[in-house]
Amino acid sequence: VSERDGEPSVSVEALWVGEVPAPEAWVFRPVGSSVARWRALLSRHGPTVTLPLLAFVVRHPSAGVLLIDTGLHPSALRDVRGDYGRITGLLFRALRPGETPFDVQLEQAGLAPGEIDRVIMTHLHVDHTSGMRLLPAATFILARREMEGATGRLSSLNGYAAAHLPEQRRMRLIDFEREGEPHGPFAQTVDLIGDGSVRLISTPGHTPGHLSVLLRTAQAPVLVIGDAVYTLRSLEQEQLPFRTANDSAYRRSMQEIKLYAQANPDAILIPTHDAGAYRRIASLNAAGQPA
Ligand SMILES: [Zn+2]
Repeated sequence: VSERDGEPSVSVEALWVGEVPAPEAWVFRPVGSSVARWRALLSRHGPTVTLPLLAFVVRHPSAGVLLIDTGLHPSALRDVRGDYGRITGLLFRALRPGETPFDVQLEQAGLAPGEIDRVIMTHLHVDHTSGMRLLPAATFILARREMEGATGRLSSLNGYAAAHLPEQRRMRLIDFEREGEPHGPFAQTVDLIGDGSVRLISTPGHTPGHLSVLLRTAQAPVLVIGDAVYTLRSLEQEQLPFRTANDSAYRRSMQEIKLYAQANPDAILIPTHDAGAYRRIASLNAAGQPA
């Protein structure tokens, strides 16, 4: 954590909480009819991509520690389908938890899980929410629209698990439509702390209320993309995944991220499920970021 030009900056550390092999057709939507797409997805011998599951620790010089997303609850380590729900659990049946459980990783980072008080949620899909129950004192900050997707009648078919979520009073819901302001190419953003160091960015499409997080660090801006795109290749090639909540919102969010990346070539972009991006942020920290 350091200050440059009087502007507070944060440090960011990525935690590898698990990984899951996924059909390439899930990550990169195959061309062709919907029958052809499903055939590619369900093919037993099709290529797979290994997707990491990441959570982030952000340290601010005066506002303290923030997390972005959460890891896996011990019940997911024992029984993924039990923890993720039967249908979504099927997609994640080959999940491999990280060597060190999420709460132990937090302790190793010098943090007591019971004392974490603020967590930004990019969205509420099961692979991001499982560890919310390990953070009993936390308030979770997310887009109001995401709650609509997560609590609707078909939520368990759409990748959500109601059992992961805390009571409503521990959710701080952001109304991007009302509170948001433009920032660069991004149409709706919220300056969370008020000093520009942590900016929430509305990036819907993957889910109804997905958000990304732009961090000012001493080295370079870091854009935690979340699942607005699964991988950097998705962004470069403008490839949609097999499934989105809304294709046109997804494309709009992807365009905003792309414009941001073009205007800020030094920025480090991290989709949650990109192993290469994880290695980049890990090496940035290894290169001697002041802790
Ligand atoms: Zn995800």
